[in-house]
Amino acid sequence: MRYTKLFIDVDDTLLDFKMAEKESLRRTAEHFGIPFTSEFHQAYHEINISYWKLHEQGLIGKEEFLPQRFIDLLDRFGYGHLDGHAANTFYHNALCESAFMMPGAEELLKELSQYAEIWLVTNGDSDVQTGRLYGGPLMKYVKGMFISDELGAPKPSKEFFDIVFGTVPHTDDMLIIGDSLTSDIRGGENAAMDSCWFNPEGAENTTLIRPTYTVRTLEEIPAVVRGEWLRQAHEEGSYAGM
Ligand SMILES: [Mg+2]
Repeated sequence: MRYTKLFIDVDDTLLDFKMAEKESLRRTAEHFGIPFTSEFHQAYHEINISYWKLHEQGLIGKEEFLPQRFIDLLDRFGYGHLDGHAANTFYHNALCESAFMMPGAEELLKELSQYAEIWLVTNGDSDVQTGRLYGGPLMKYVKGMFISDELGAPKPSKEFFDIVFGTVPHTDDMLIIGDSLTSDIRGGENAAMDSCWFNPEGAENTTLIRPTYTVRTLEEIPAVVRGEWLRQAHEEGSYAGM
């Protein structure tokens, strides 16, 4: 299958969100007079991920959890007297200014745009994502960006993709590409679309979510899009009963 319409995730697929997160958090800690330790960073990361997972499941809104992750974090490190909302706002502004590209991201979009139409699909904040992307070199290769904030539903919900398909009618030659099994690849399943899991660290897939393809590097993606990459064998019973 050769794919001509691509939906590509932004964070940790095209932009190095881990680096942006670390840098923004370091600046936030500095601003509020908190030592920036690896424990602080790790704790933020865990709290943040757990809230985003709840958000993906539709259990909590951003308005509520974005400040709450800082309230939880400050509490945990004995800074409960500081203003979690202010910390969240400072962090948010720092993040808007932090765009670190994943190595090879621009080359990837440049190549893919020669034979496919590209849309970005992201669960990020509208102002963070537009702030980081529109000033950069990637947008000239894409037809547009769908941001959960603006659509009113996050990946992997069917609602998110139903809205996308209102602009880009659903066809069989669509592919979603991203680093997250729970939002990108699950989103592909929910939207009846083939999927390509970008798994640079070779993480084990311990979920029942089954990507159509798995790659370790961005350089491998053009071969997937051109239909030159083996579909992953998902034999009947390979995970049944586990
Ligand atoms: Mg991602």
